[in-house]
Amino acid sequence: MGVEEKLPQGIILTSVEALVNWTRKASMWPATFGLACCAIEMMATGAARYDTGRFGMEVFRASPRQADLMIVAGRVSQKMAPVLRQIYDQMPEPKWVLSMGVCATSGGMFNNYAIVQGVDHVVPVDMYLPGCPPRPEMLLDAILKLHEKVQHEPLGEKRRQALADLPEPIVKP
Ligand code: SF4
Repeated sequence: MGVEEKLPQGIILTSVEALVNWTRKASMWPATFGLACCAIEMMATGAARYDTGRFGMEVFRASPRQADLMIVAGRVSQKMAPVLRQIYDQMPEPKWVLSMGVCATSGGMFNNYAIVQGVDHVVPVDMYLPGCPPRPEMLLDAILKLHEKVQHEPLGEKRRQALADLPEPIVKP
């Protein structure tokens, strides 16, 4: 009997890459990391009404060593930039960064010397979310789009190469 004939009986075909990526996206652990007003919306997203637990993100971890997702929720001050970078470095691979709100993404209304004009000057960003502040529905949408990205990421050497090809952050601790 050919594979095509067996399919209706319930054979699942997939690749190791797709399976690993599915487990990664289905069980993300966000770091507890709020910087400003956007963090209030992030907290609302994790609470009962919006419930990120539906997408495998029940618990925000207090230790970066137990987290694989950093949601940068708010403007990044120059003083906080080295701390943010240190927390990112303490997170184990594989890890992802979501820039939440216009301030984290580009400095927003804070176009001044005290605020980093985009968190991608400090860490590589996987997903940008506009808005001031983005509503919980928008954050959920960005998380689901990030899941989609993770599902199609390369593994192993290919992933390391893709990360190595990213531009170096400008601000370092
Ligand atoms: Fe606050 Fe708006 Fe900036 Fe978010 S984008 S940190 S809500 S000012």
